[in-house]
Amino acid sequence: MLKGACFCGAVSYIVTGTPTLSAFCHCTNCQRLSGCPFVHTIHFPSSAFTWTHPAPHEDRLDSYVPPAKPWKTRWRCKSCGACVTSASSKTGNHSVWGAHLARNEAGKILNWESVKPTAHIFYETRMLDVKDDLGKWTGYENTSTRLE
Ligand SMILES: [Zn+2]
Ligand SMILES: [Zn+2]
Repeated sequence: MLKGACFCGAVSYIVTGTPTLSAFCHCTNCQRLSGCPFVHTIHFPSSAFTWTHPAPHEDRLDSYVPPAKPWKTRWRCKSCGACVTSASSKTGNHSVWGAHLARNEAGKILNWESVKPTAHIFYETRMLDVKDDLGKWTGYENTSTRLE
């Protein structure tokens, strides 16, 4: 089980089980929505995701549906604005971001081995080159062209 929360802590969740995907995403949607060169995205089946802040959960949440992807709903904290999950009605997945997961005293994410990224995806639109041992893909890992 993994715990996650927004920056201010007003919104929190747990996810259980094994991710179906964990990768550094360099797509332009992630870049523009996060303001960062790439994000650590982690996908779970929606059944694995549960809000843990007090109900009614939506009192503390705003939602946003990207016009180009009407099947996706992004949920963000009304207080601090951090977007903590994106739910897809098409795939039945919840995406969460590694940066929001609970950490130890040294600032390291707990259970890192179970959630660490296995690839760089949508790497062609990268804002910087990454020199590591993970595969670099034009789209999703193993279903697109491997660049490096
Ligand atoms: Zn917050
Ligand atoms: Zn992305």
